[in-house]
Amino acid sequence: MNQLGRPLTRESLAEEFTRAGLRSGDSVILHSSLKSLGAVEGGAEAVVQALLDVIGETGHLLVPTFTYCLPIWNIPPFDVRNSKSRVGAITEAVRLHEGAVRSFHPTHSVAVIGPGRDSLVKNHLHATPLGVDCPFDRMRRLGAKILMLGTTQDTNSSLHLCEVLAKLPYVNVAFSDGQDFELAWFINEQGEIEYTPIYEVPGCSRGFRVVEGPLRRAGVLVDVHVGLAPSQLLDLENLIAAMLDLLRLDPVMLLCTNESCAICTKRRAYMKKVSA
Ligand SMILES: [Zn+2]
Repeated sequence: MNQLGRPLTRESLAEEFTRAGLRSGDSVILHSSLKSLGAVEGGAEAVVQALLDVIGETGHLLVPTFTYCLPIWNIPPFDVRNSKSRVGAITEAVRLHEGAVRSFHPTHSVAVIGPGRDSLVKNHLHATPLGVDCPFDRMRRLGAKILMLGTTQDTNSSLHLCEVLAKLPYVNVAFSDGQDFELAWFINEQGEIEYTPIYEVPGCSRGFRVVEGPLRRAGVLVDVHVGLAPSQLLDLENLIAAMLDLLRLDPVMLLCTNESCAICTKRRAYMKKVSA
């Protein structure tokens, strides 16, 4: 919906994306909430098409299509062709777009549209989910922008990349007690179930909004509006530089303070132990 109460369209969305700061040739990491936009004629597909209209054929669009396929969470094995994205309608629309390829990763797959898509997604399973040389990290060489479309920093997966790049020791603390990895599962090319250990398990992101103030003051986070959705625009490389500084000052700032959060509690305790 726009400010006048009319449904958004592919055309009006393209105008709003341009006004928000996106340009032809941009490489965009998109985190999104379709509902936050209000009524959209053509739904999630129209949003994707509008973005592609703006960034053009030389641009790239990357979205998470995370599935979190861990047997301990009772989520069925990852099937690269059929497992639906669990992170929203817009990400699912990108995954199903004819120009998209999906990375092979049982917990943190992504879908990418654009000329460099194959090199962005290849061998994701050989990197950690959101660590060095994962697709988000590879987007750095394209000067990527991050658009939080109706979402906030608690959905910004690149902050998990920052945790790894900052070499925070807690990234090696897994959900399961006494392990430094989680076991994920997937359907391999032969159609059989296969298991793989996942290291540097991205933990909890519920505390991530703590970075919004500092990033805004540093000019790294810019507030923008698309439809009815308060949104945020960031440059990936600037985000990483700012976060490395912030995490040097306070290495546990990204961990949430909810006492019932098992992973953050465990990671805080671990940080106390290693810094003692
Ligand atoms: Zn937490």
